[in-house]
Amino acid sequence: MNDFEFDDSRLLSTTLGENEGEDLSLRPKTLDEYVGQEKVKENMRIFIEAAKKRGETLDHVLLYGPPGLGKTTLAGVIANEMNVSIRITSGPAIEKQGDLAALLTNLQDGDILFIDEIHRLPKQVEEVLYPAMEDYSLDIIIGKGPSARSIRLDLPKFTLIGATTRAGQLTAPLRDRFGVNARLELYTNDELEQIALRSAGILNIKIEEEGAAEIAKRSRGTPRIVNRLLKRVRDFADVCADGIIDKKVADMALRRMEIDELGLDSIDRRMLRSIITNFRGGPVGLETLSATVGEEAVTIEDVYEPYLLQIGFLERTPRGRAATHLAYKHLGIPFPENTSDQLSF
Ligand code: ADP
Repeated sequence: MNDFEFDDSRLLSTTLGENEGEDLSLRPKTLDEYVGQEKVKENMRIFIEAAKKRGETLDHVLLYGPPGLGKTTLAGVIANEMNVSIRITSGPAIEKQGDLAALLTNLQDGDILFIDEIHRLPKQVEEVLYPAMEDYSLDIIIGKGPSARSIRLDLPKFTLIGATTRAGQLTAPLRDRFGVNARLELYTNDELEQIALRSAGILNIKIEEEGAAEIAKRSRGTPRIVNRLLKRVRDFADVCADGIIDKKVADMALRRMEIDELGLDSIDRRMLRSIITNFRGGPVGLETLSATVGEEAVTIEDVYEPYLLQIGFLERTPRGRAATHLAYKHLGIPFPENTSDQLSF
């Protein structure tokens, strides 16, 4: 079984729903096809080969990094390289211990269970996961009150792949039970360009290298954004030009979508502008910022911040977020000469 296996039951459908509209054909299937993340890939290659050589199940793997960087994709690649099936679910979808028991008892030896957003697993479910990960056994309580008894079920030797946007939110006992920890990094522009060209090939989109480079440059280091922008730019190329994505068409389309030359969208700009104008450049606490720009604090932390930190527009200080002189420059706002003038609280 090589392909991703999506179950249509409620438990397993949320992941698909969340990434609605995403093209499964664009997901790389092998480590060779998976662009970038060289360090993670090289290590995974060794762990996979070693497990296969010894005829063992792969150790549990924790993948972390911002959304859209390829955690789910990598889990599928690992399953494919191990030649095993993968079941995909997510932390919030597993509400009760029984839900997890049902998932685990349906696995075969060697199978992979992928739990996205594993930091959102309910506490009582997480506790059942510990012995499952460690001893491949499940303790469940049957009945209620004085007649309740606990029975132990043996489970197949499975691999758990957990994905999270924030490793820091995982409880220590859960984190400790993963044998492999891999942090995915934002992609370079060259890698994103390769992804754009690869996806264009699969989707039969006509694109020039410079067009791909333009999309890559404005995709905030994230493959999911590359693929999304590629499809939208194609719409502009088909309707407003001759169907070929070159630099000019890409630039025109992205401009019309209000994505600037660094990939910042209107929300990024609103956030930076708000820090600069309402809080004199910061530092400003995350909750206050969230209320001011009208975006949830977790969204700001997971989706917007990583890229703004990476390009040096934002600084995280113990007292909150602050805009850097690069952010002022990008927005065309003069940087205050006297920095002691900035708010401190
Ligand atoms: P995550 O699980 O981290 O949110 P996904 O695995 O869903 O991210 O990846 C989002 C999309 O980006 C996928 O549909 C896939 O097509 C593309 N993608 C991710 N990583 C890569 C990669 N390394 N090479 C090529 N395409 C990738």
